[in-house]
Amino acid sequence: MSSTASPSTAAQAAIVLDVVVIGAGFSGMYALHTLREAGLKARVYDEAHNVGGTWNWNRYPGARVDFPVAPYYCYTFSDELMNEFDWPERQPDQATVLKYLNFVADRMDLRRDIELGTRITGATYDEATQRWRVGTSRGTRLDAQFVVCASGALSTANMPKIPGIETFAGECYHTGRWPQDDSVDFTGKRVAVLGTGSSGVQSIPHIARQCQHLTVLQRTPQYTVPAGNKPVDPDFVANARATWPEIKQRMRVTPFGSPFLASTVKASEHTPEQRREVYEKFWQVGGFNIVIDTYCDLFTDQFANETLAEFVRDKIRSTVKNPDTARKLLPNYLIGTKRQILDEGYYDTYNRDNVTLVDLREDPILEFYPGGVRTKSGDHPIDMLVLATGFDAITGTLQRLNPRGRGGVTLNECWKDRFNSYLGISIPRFPNLFMIHGPESPGVLFNMPLGAEMESDWIRDCILHLRAQGKGAIEPAPGVDAAYGAEVAEFARMTLFEQTESWYTGANIPGKHRQFAVHVAGPLYFQKIREVAAQGYTGFVMEPAATA
Ligand code: NAP
Repeated sequence: MSSTASPSTAAQAAIVLDVVVIGAGFSGMYALHTLREAGLKARVYDEAHNVGGTWNWNRYPGARVDFPVAPYYCYTFSDELMNEFDWPERQPDQATVLKYLNFVADRMDLRRDIELGTRITGATYDEATQRWRVGTSRGTRLDAQFVVCASGALSTANMPKIPGIETFAGECYHTGRWPQDDSVDFTGKRVAVLGTGSSGVQSIPHIARQCQHLTVLQRTPQYTVPAGNKPVDPDFVANARATWPEIKQRMRVTPFGSPFLASTVKASEHTPEQRREVYEKFWQVGGFNIVIDTYCDLFTDQFANETLAEFVRDKIRSTVKNPDTARKLLPNYLIGTKRQILDEGYYDTYNRDNVTLVDLREDPILEFYPGGVRTKSGDHPIDMLVLATGFDAITGTLQRLNPRGRGGVTLNECWKDRFNSYLGISIPRFPNLFMIHGPESPGVLFNMPLGAEMESDWIRDCILHLRAQGKGAIEPAPGVDAAYGAEVAEFARMTLFEQTESWYTGANIPGKHRQFAVHVAGPLYFQKIREVAAQGYTGFVMEPAATA
């Protein structure tokens, strides 16, 4: 049966597929490509009206790639893509990344198997047929042996529950659901930004330059370092293209999937003066180099971490002219344990006359009212509210889908106390369902396009293996998820990440249980999943194929 049944027949008959892929971002687009190349009938569904996933939704001003520089935040599977797309800047902006993803969709002829404007509304596993019954917002029914959730680790917006927020009568936008039509105009308006994570920090300097007055509502101050964005040097690109095979190999084996070899020097090996010199050098270079190229123990040793933290605090004190504002901006937790941020003049923005910083720790929000926000110290009249409040990260989108697995069990029942998985790719009692960038995968702490390629290739090979063996369903064996979870937790304990409340731990979502659900040792993780495959998918059970 054709995967593109006409609307009239779709109302009656299910569309029969090998694989339903949820999400048309970096992960889903590559998953489609590789599954299709392997001869599988796969189709992607996305509620957006454009490909691009997070790069489609996050159109707020200032949105840019912060992963170590173009041209490394991109697909690696095709030399043509590498050679044919020119990245203009070291930190490409959202529009450029979206242009790239549209270019890939065309170049790889993906669009014929992507259905946009279509949300997956539910998915139920049928044990008798070993297939998933999937529903869409258009009322179509899909019947697929496999489901690949490429729905994004940062895609379900965190909408804060604050008294009176629904009564606010002005314009209100979430950075992760920004209007798709460039209609937002800050000119002459009094704007408040709630939240100072990456999205807030990236957008605040841009909004401040355009609006009449900006009020920043800050709950936790952030350490941010200069992005160091600049045009990409043509010689640099020529060299990257010429040495692409070596670079690709290096990205697979270095921490975070970056092409840069990390420092091997410990902070304690240098004197305070030497450290200041080192930090200053990389502050001037900009980008993540300040955490990659300086000292190897910044995320594992409190002393090392504090040396960089204090360097950044000094930068805040020397940049922000009003001492009281500078004081409010000083973070006091372990640097880098909330996602490290790159900025374009963030701290300097507080020297502008039209910017006010409200420190919600000493001046909390009491309520929103139709014309603004009321904090303990008084009213702040505003015309527009920008919610830079982040996401129900890593698990939120899967929980919203809440598929039903074996015996009708829901994902939310299974994840009541723990986000358990095997290899961050599969979940016990959910046969033939795979995740890309799921909980307990390296996901958000690795080069995400590259990680998506490697996970998708693994899923493709697993499906082909299953079929070659005459089997119909695969899922984790009882208990392997607990052992795997313990391994992920053991790696996390070697770092400082768990010690800070962040979206990595689920602490940003009221009621969400705390679990640092990221595998921090990306290269070891990818080595492990390769070994599991090479040994015939150890840790999984496979069922003989049901007879039709
Ligand atoms: P985020 O890092 O979770 O930041 C959310 C901000 O909103 C925090 O300052 C948080 O304060 C605040 N907040 C949330 N709920 C609040 C409430 N009820 N009251 C007051 N404040 C509240 O979210 P994000 O900035 O959107 O970034 C999320 C992740 O997306 C990033 O860490 C990054 O991985 C990715 N991202 C990447 C880029 C890029 O450049 N490539 C750009 C944007 C985002 P607390 O800190 O106190 O919780």
